[in-house]
Amino acid sequence: MPAGARGDCLIETGNLASGAPLGIPVVLVKGARAGPCLWINGQVHGDEINGLVAALDFVGGLVPSSMAGSVVLTTTANPYAFDARRKRTPHDDLDLDQCFPGHAQGLASERLAYAMTEAMAGCADLLVSFHTMGSAFDCRPFAVYKQSSAPGAPDEAGLLVLMAQFAPSCACWMPIELREGELPGHLAGAIDYWMLEAGKPAFMIELGAGGRVDAEHVKQGVRGLTGVARKLGIVRGAAEADSPPLRVTRYRHATCARGGLFRRAAEPDTMLAAGQAYGHITDLYGKVVETLSFEQPALLVGVRRDPVVHSGDRVAFAALQWDRVAG
Ligand SMILES: [Zn+2]
Repeated sequence: MPAGARGDCLIETGNLASGAPLGIPVVLVKGARAGPCLWINGQVHGDEINGLVAALDFVGGLVPSSMAGSVVLTTTANPYAFDARRKRTPHDDLDLDQCFPGHAQGLASERLAYAMTEAMAGCADLLVSFHTMGSAFDCRPFAVYKQSSAPGAPDEAGLLVLMAQFAPSCACWMPIELREGELPGHLAGAIDYWMLEAGKPAFMIELGAGGRVDAEHVKQGVRGLTGVARKLGIVRGAAEADSPPLRVTRYRHATCARGGLFRRAAEPDTMLAAGQAYGHITDLYGKVVETLSFEQPALLVGVRRDPVVHSGDRVAFAALQWDRVAG
């Protein structure tokens, strides 16, 4: 691409049985002057919408003639799941964010992951990987990040400063090794972890909840991307004040033991005392059959919105241990 220009393309990944072409849509904005490349991935999970809308708004407002460096947006890394309005890839039922770096001759999700890593390798200097909580939940935007021990991998303090641009309710450190309270899966197969292993900063922003667009969360996403682009020197202007986010070193997805109707007793972003109820399960006769709380003080990050639950369904996502790192 020439300097000081904008464009778009499709990374071709094959076609449907009926012949319709499949691919990853890309928007590219190249500054007039040389500089780093900010790569934004709008979604890996097909039912998570706020992030890609925020990214499109941000990219649409860029002025290439005044930029130093480039911004690349892959609007969705999983067009199959996007079309199906589903988290996972319908063709192979895999979670794309557990498939990186992918395989050129693999299953549909592995091919998507491979196409993404081929495109990003040697080009992306920083990745913002947008997600949301599931559509059954409500939450304010928060950040999730991993850490790599690979030589030259970005340090935690630098990641926290970048995530702070999004004013997240907290920044949750996610270990690669599975621990109690985490969702099962191959966490090292995430696109952001692949970037960290390659020595480049990367993190996830959970921009609210899925299956819908929330105008305030979209605006928060645009402000965050603007701050990151300013930090990188791609666009002019001062980044947001770096008040460090609440660093969460332990969290859990909480599930209910009894099925029925989940009735919320606390809103997202509430600090709960030990033993304080954040919800109840009632049976279909109206009787309370379970009261939900945490044994220790907890920050209720996300809480269920869809009341219909079976035993083992997720009802909340909460921080259990945190601190604030000096900026
Ligand atoms: Zn996600």
